[in-house]
Amino acid sequence: ARVDNPYAGAKLYVNPDWSAAARQGGAPASVYNQPTAVWLDRIAAIESGSAGSNTMGLRDHLDAALAQGATTFQLVTYNLPGRDCSALASNGELGPTEIDRYKREFIDPIAAILSDAKYANLRIVNVIEIDSLPNLITNVSGRPTGVPECDVMKANGNYVKGVGYALSKFGDIGNVYNYIDIGHHGWIGWDDNFRPTAQLLKQAATSEGATVDDVAGFAANVANFGATVEPYFKIDDTVGGKSVREGSKWVDWNRYVDEQSYAQAFRQEAVSQGFRSDVGVIIDTSRNGWGGSQRPTGPAPKTGTADEYVNGSRVDRRIHTGNWCNQAGAGLGERPKASPASGIDAYTWIKPPGESDGSASEIPNDEGKGFDRMCDPTYQGNARNGNSPSGAKGGAPVSGHWFQEQFSELVRNAYPPA
Ligand code: BGC
Repeated sequence: ARVDNPYAGAKLYVNPDWSAAARQGGAPASVYNQPTAVWLDRIAAIESGSAGSNTMGLRDHLDAALAQGATTFQLVTYNLPGRDCSALASNGELGPTEIDRYKREFIDPIAAILSDAKYANLRIVNVIEIDSLPNLITNVSGRPTGVPECDVMKANGNYVKGVGYALSKFGDIGNVYNYIDIGHHGWIGWDDNFRPTAQLLKQAATSEGATVDDVAGFAANVANFGATVEPYFKIDDTVGGKSVREGSKWVDWNRYVDEQSYAQAFRQEAVSQGFRSDVGVIIDTSRNGWGGSQRPTGPAPKTGTADEYVNGSRVDRRIHTGNWCNQAGAGLGERPKASPASGIDAYTWIKPPGESDGSASEIPNDEGKGFDRMCDPTYQGNARNGNSPSGAKGGAPVSGHWFQEQFSELVRNAYPPA
C-alpha cells in the first residue's frame, strides 16, 4: 500500500550523473550531494540517459538507487506528442499526432521497468509531463497569449490522453506516486486559469483508464523561478488604500505572490474538483532561492507607489513572472525537505540545477529542440511575458545541456546559502 507522503522519512536518490557534473562544476559537497530528479525526456533516455552529459538509463539509475540504500526515487516523464506547444526550447521528438508511439515506445517500456519486483521497495515519485495541461488553458485561441500549436494539442486531445494513459499505467504499479504538473503561481494563479486547470487535470485523471486514485498529488514550479515564500510582502497588503493586486504591475490581479500559497490553494481546489483529499504538492526549489546582493533584507516603505513597495520588497528579482528561461541572478533554493508546510509533501529539486532551459541563440541539434527567443537576452518579449525583456542569461546551450555560468551563479546566489 502507498504511504501518504513518499518523502516522509525518506532517503532520496542522488543522481550520479548530475552529482558528478555539479562537483566538476565547482559546487561544494552540500550541493553536489543533493538529490535531483531523473528526467526521461525522449525514448532513448530510457536506455541511455537524458539530454546533455547524462549517460545512465532508467535501470542503471534504479539499480544505483538500491545500491545507495535510497528509499525514494524521483522521475520526470516528459515526452508528450507535440511537446512544449507554446515555446520552442523543449520541443521534443514526437509530432502532435504520435500518441501511439508515446504509449507503446515510451510509457509502456518505462512501466515495464518500474514494475520489476526488484524495485518494489523503492517509492517512485513520477512527475508527469511538465507544462502540458496548463498550456491548454492559457495558450489557446480566445486568449491574447494563444499560439496555434497549443490549439492543435487541445483539439486532438493528445495531451489529455497521454497524461491519462501515463497515470493509468503507472498507477497500476503499487510503489509509484504520480504527481501532475500544475505550472506555477505566475501562470495559473489568476482566477481565469485556476479552476479551469484543476478541472482539466481532473478530466485527464479520469481518461484512458485513469482514476483519481492514480494521483498522489501535484508538482508546482518545476524548472521555474517563483519564490517558495515571499517573506516581505503578502497578497493582502495595501498601499495608499489600494490592494497590491490592483496597484502593482508585478502582481497584476494574480491571487498569489508565491509558490507555497498557490500550491496550498490549488490543492484545495483540486480536492473540491474530486481529487483525493490526501493529495499533496511538491514544490521545485532547485532555482528559486534568489540570494545574492540583490536580495531585499526587509519590506520596502509603503510611502511611495504600490510598484515601489512590491518591487522593493520581492525576493523574486525577475523582470516579469512570465520569464522562464535561464533567469539571470537566480540562486539555488531550499534544499530538499519533507513535509515543510501544510499540504506540501516536499520542497525538492526536480530541475537539475545547471541544466539549461534553452539555447540563447540558434544551435542545430538532433533532439527536436528549437530556438526560443525567451532564452535570448536581447529579446523584448511577447504577450506571455507582458512584452518584457526575457531576463535570460547569454551563452546558454540547448535545453538539458550543462550551462556552467548559470550553475556557478546559482551556487553563488543560493538562498539559504550553500
Ligand atoms: C529539457 C530536457 C531536460 C530537462 C532537464 C528540459 O528543458 O528539454 O531535455 O532533460 O529540461 O534539464
